[in-house]
Amino acid sequence: MRERLKKIIEKSQHLVFFGGAGVSTESGIPDFRSEEGLYKTRNQFGYRPEEIVSHEFFFAHPDVFYRYYFAFMIHPQAKPNACHRALAKWEQEGKRVSVITQNIDGLHDMAGSGEVYELHGSIHRNNCVKCGKTYDLPYILDEKNTEKNIPYCHRCHGMIKPEVVLFGEPLDQEVIEGAVSAISQGDTLIIGGTSLAVYPAAGYVGAFRGGNVILINKEKTLGEVEADISIQGPIGEIMGSIAGI
Ligand code: NAD
Repeated sequence: MRERLKKIIEKSQHLVFFGGAGVSTESGIPDFRSEEGLYKTRNQFGYRPEEIVSHEFFFAHPDVFYRYYFAFMIHPQAKPNACHRALAKWEQEGKRVSVITQNIDGLHDMAGSGEVYELHGSIHRNNCVKCGKTYDLPYILDEKNTEKNIPYCHRCHGMIKPEVVLFGEPLDQEVIEGAVSAISQGDTLIIGGTSLAVYPAAGYVGAFRGGNVILINKEKTLGEVEADISIQGPIGEIMGSIAGI
C-alpha cells in the first residue's frame, strides 16, 4: 500500500492535502473526537467543550472560555511533525502542494508550506473586538495584558478574540473560495487526520475532480469518503516514511 502511495505522490504535480486535528496529535496537540480527544476528557469547567468553543459562549463567559482555551487548545511549544514536514518537502521539491487545514495551530506555516488555507483560522491571529487591532499569540499569553484571564487591547481596552472560527460562526469566504478552487484543480487528494464530521469544511473535498483520493486516518471517519487507497494508522509516521524523512 505504502509503495503504491509513494508512486502516486511521485507522479503527482498538484497534491491537495485536506487535514484535521489528527494531523497534529503527533505534535502533542489533542484532537476533539478520537478516544484520547478533548470531547472525551473531563474538564473542571462544568461545561462540555463543544459548548465552550462556541460564539455565544465566548461573549457570555469569556473568562471560562479563555481558561479552557489556554489550558487545552494553546500549545505554544508544539512543533511540526513528519506530516507537516513531508508536505513542505514535496513543495520544496517543485510540486504544487495545497494544504487545506481545519487546524488552528499554525504548524503547516511553521513547517514551511506556502499555500495553506486555514478554514478555521489561527491561534496566532487575535483581534480586539472593539477597535480591530491585531495581536500575536505571545501578546495574549502575556499575563500583564490580561485581566481575570481575559486578554485586553492596550489601545482601547476592548476584549481580544482569537481569529478562530467558533461554533456558530461563518467561515471566511475568501479562504473557502481559495480552498475549493485548489481542491478542484489538484490531481491527487490526500485526506488525513480528520473525522470529516465538521461541516461545512468536510463537504469541500467533494470539489475534487482529479485522479486519486487517499485517506489516512487512525479511526474510521464519521463522514463517508470514497478513497482509492485507505490506510489506517498514524499520519505523521506514514507521510514521513513516504517522504523519506
Ligand atoms: P476530530 O477531532 O473530529 O477528528 C480527528 C480524527 O483524526 C479522528 O478521526 C482520529 O481517529 C484521527 N487521528 C488522530 N490522531 C491521528 C494520527 N496521529 N494519525 C491519523 N489520524 C489521527 O478532528 P477534525 O475532523 O479536525 O474536527 C475537529 C475540529 O477541531 C476542527 O475543526 C479543528 O478546528 C478543531 N481542532 C483543532 C486542533 C488543532 O488545531 N490542532 C486541535 C483540536 C481541535
